[in-house]
Amino acid sequence: MVDECVFCKIRKGEIPSTMLYSDDDFMIIKDINPQAKIHLIAVPTVHAPYIDMMTEEGAVLLGKIMSKISHMQEELGITNGYRLIINQGEDAGQTVGHVHIHILGGEKLKEF
Ligand code: AMP
Ligand code: ZN
Repeated sequence: MVDECVFCKIRKGEIPSTMLYSDDDFMIIKDINPQAKIHLIAVPTVHAPYIDMMTEEGAVLLGKIMSKISHMQEELGITNGYRLIINQGEDAGQTVGHVHIHILGGEKLKEF
């Protein structure tokens, strides 16, 4: 069966989540294992396991999502700055094979 990843299941309401926002393009949920005071995940609706497997349209959507996040800083609680991360592949520690953007903030983040 395709598209049975955890994020697609959340999207379909088959797994519970704390959803802060959703539209046709993407959703923003709280990460269940937060690595910062605020740790959210922005997940495009279309299932693509890796960035290189996204269509050009999907890649454009990633930019659109980043723009939308920048206009939602107040409601997301990240007005003082935030960090966006995409883990791509094994070396980066990607655990869910559905491209997503981590949103970290709500406190001074460690440098890396
Ligand atoms: P990554 O390691 O970049 O693939 O990120 C996957 C993220 O999804 C991790 O930070 C997990 O904590 C998070 N995660 C996994 N399952 C769930 C879930 N059911 N609800 C919310 N976040 C989840
Ligand atoms: Zn998926």
